[in-house]
Parts: sequence; C-alpha cells; structure tokens
Amino acid sequence: MNERCRAGESCRALTSDGAAITTRPLCHSCVDDIQVRLDQLPAYWQALHSAKAKSLVPQGAGTKVQGSADPGTPLQLHVVDLIDEISQFLAWVDGVRVADLINRPLLSYERRYGGRILEADGVYLALGISRLWGRAEAQIGLQREYARRFGECPSCDQPSLGAYIGDDTIVCSTCGDSMSWLEYRKLTLKRARDKKGKR
Ligand SMILES: [Zn+2]
Ligand SMILES: [Zn+2]
Repeated sequence: MNERCRAGESCRALTSDGAAITTRPLCHSCVDDIQVRLDQLPAYWQALHSAKAKSLVPQGAGTKVQGSADPGTPLQLHVVDLIDEISQFLAWVDGVRVADLINRPLLSYERRYGGRILEADGVYLALGISRLWGRAEAQIGLQREYARRFGECPSCDQPSLGAYIGDDTIVCSTCGDSMSWLEYRKLTLKRARDKKGKR
C-alpha cells in the first residue's frame, strides 16, 4: 500500500504536494539521509564530549570573566543534555541500519537517565536520530573555534586569513576567498623563501 513518508514536513523528497509517496514507512531519500546522519553521530557525540571536557567559554565571555563562579551556564547544560540524548538513542538503535530499523515494531525502551519508559517504533527512533544530528550540527557549528592564520590573503592582501579548528579550508574574512591547507602551506613557505632571498 502506498502512503506518505512519515518524515512529513522534514521529508527529503518533500514536494508542494507533501511528503513522498512510498510503500515503506520512510521514503528512500529519507532512509539514505538518516543513515548518513546516524553514521556521523558518534563523531558528533565525541566532538560535543570533548567540547564539554574543555569547558567551553560561555557565550559573551572572552573578556574578564575569570573568577566569576558560574560553570553551569545554560549553554553547558544544553550540551550535557544533548550528549546524553545521543548516547541514549545510539544505544537503542544498537547499530541497526536505518533501512531495517524502520521496520522495527513498537517497543518499550527504558531511559538510562531519568528512568522513564519510552514507547517507540523504529521510525520514531530514526526520526529522533535525524533531529539529534541537527541539534549536534547546530551546536558544533555554533561553537567551532576560529583561529587567525598569519600572512596576507593572496587575493586582497589583507592579513585576515583564518580557519575553524578542524576545518581544512582557510578563509579570508575580508574578501571571502578560500584555499586549502595545502595551498596555504605552500603560500607561507614561498613567502618565507622570498623573505630570505631579500636579505
Ligand atoms: Zn521521506
Ligand atoms: Zn582576501
């Protein structure tokens, strides 16, 4: 029987007509997309975890907040919550592929944190994974550290190159030009050589 993909408004194959028509609980596009998210989620969990461990600077800080005893900022609690939720869902999914997960019937799951029972079928878990990925993505994107890089931008000559930690792309904040790490390395080596030559 053909039905609408249960992702509803968030269906990857959404048309003006609504979610995709499919013979399965979730359409093919959604299954593929959520599988990618599921595969990435452990890395996101790790990133959030080390961010928490590093005790990220609360928002609006960076100036003089040393000595202010306020480690429990809302931001931190939000991260802790998200980390728990991700490990909870990953445990429930238990390594099952999304294509199989969506056929799982309604089961009762006990929450590790808080002990409440959750009644959920496989589609519910799959959509939960998708939502958690979105939250993790937003969180990590929000808190990604930016580091200035030395040297002038080859396009605009301004000393405004930088990169997000862990990102492979160097971006100029003046003209928006970008280059790979390798190109940047080559550029700085060349500049160093040029300088030596001048002496
Ligand atoms: Zn769909
Ligand atoms: Zn530039």
